Amino acid sequence: MDDCIFCKIAQKEIKSDIIYEDENIIAFDDISPQAPVHVVIITKKHVKSVDFLREEDKAMAAEIVLSFGKIARIKKIEKEGYRIVSNHLESAGQSVFHLHFHLLGGRKMNWPPG
Ligand code: AMP
Ligand code: ZN
Repeated sequence: MDDCIFCKIAQKEIKSDIIYEDENIIAFDDISPQAPVHVVIITKKHVKSVDFLREEDKAMAAEIVLSFGKIARIKKIEKEGYRIVSNHLESAGQSVFHLHFHLLGGRKMNWPPG
């Protein structure tokens, strides 16, 4: 999609520090990290948010979920723990309207989140 920063990252028109990539997914370090490990996992397909996933996206959605553990292992935080977050709409904190998950780790996480 034109004018979508994450589509541009997926198409490598904008550079990012890529951690992991497969057919449907690309994961890169967040430009403004909120924890020592902060990876953004996006779909290559433009979907507005997690709420816009549909039945036809089932295989891709499964791939995303399976990527979390792979990325945690690449970052070597699978034993200490990590958090996965996906924001839907501004009220939840979404600022980029292209489906993505945050993988956060390397520090103690608080609950409830802010
Ligand atoms: P959200 O606020 O949940 O929509 O998450 C968007 C995330 O994308 C934020 O954590 C931003 O810091 C991150 N972000 C925005 N632009 C870039 C970029 N060019 N490279 C890496 N991360 C980015
Ligand atoms: Zn997009």
